[in-house]
Amino acid sequence: MQAHMDNCIFCDIINNKAPSEKIYEDDHVTCIKDTNPASTHHYLILPNKHIRNAKEIKPEDAELFDRIVSTVDIILEQQGLDPAETRTGFHWPPFNTVHHLHLHVISPISNMNMIRKFMFATNTYWFVSTDYVKSQISGSKL
Ligand SMILES: [Zn+2]
Ligand SMILES: [Zn+2]
Repeated sequence: MQAHMDNCIFCDIINNKAPSEKIYEDDHVTCIKDTNPASTHHYLILPNKHIRNAKEIKPEDAELFDRIVSTVDIILEQQGLDPAETRTGFHWPPFNTVHHLHLHVISPISNMNMIRKFMFATNTYWFVSTDYVKSQISGSKL
């Protein structure tokens, strides 16, 4: 799999070829504001490497996956968010939006309207928790 994909809006954002509001970035992950926020705070944590979706995370990407998840703590701290009022999760194929893996971080949950609560309801057919994805990474030693 190549590191960057042509015609991928998130790859363009990571490489500063498209505008976005980055709130955090390092060598492995980038965190941007969602352009269509579901609550007061809504961020997307992206691996800098192009991975299509949560189902296609390979065992060799397990460390990168852990970095994506641990970035949530950085964002919570940076933005002063209450973990108990914060929803995180991944789209689960075929219910994707942008085809570049991204972890949604939404807070506070109580500010989400009914439709968004449905869209981002954890462990449904379309939106799953970080723990679920971790358990699905084939060959991962848990
Ligand atoms: Zn991409
Ligand atoms: Zn999304």
